[in-house]
Amino acid sequence: MSKLCECGCGNLAPLAKWTDKRLGHIKGMPVRFIKGHNSRVSPHGSPGEKNPNWHVDHIKPQSLFNFESPEDVEFKQCWALENLQPMSAKENRKKSNKYRSEI
Ligand SMILES: [Zn+2]
Repeated sequence: MSKLCECGCGNLAPLAKWTDKRLGHIKGMPVRFIKGHNSRVSPHGSPGEKNPNWHVDHIKPQSLFNFESPEDVEFKQCWALENLQPMSAKENRKKSNKYRSEI
């Protein structure tokens, strides 16, 4: 079982090595935040808004997939962890500009 860090950075949260009620960790379960990441989270807004400088990037761009509903195989491939990577907003802009110029 794996889960992404709730700060929205797109990194995989590690499994808790012990139960810590204060931090909300349960032994063997993914922690909510990668160590140090919870301090970056403001109490307001959704995860995406908490880290405006970090985007989740599709390694293979979403536009190359063909899907109409979340049940489609291609939708699952598009959003599979293997196809996602954290990327700074700057890099993401660079990348999307590159794709635009290639079209
Ligand atoms: Zn994080």
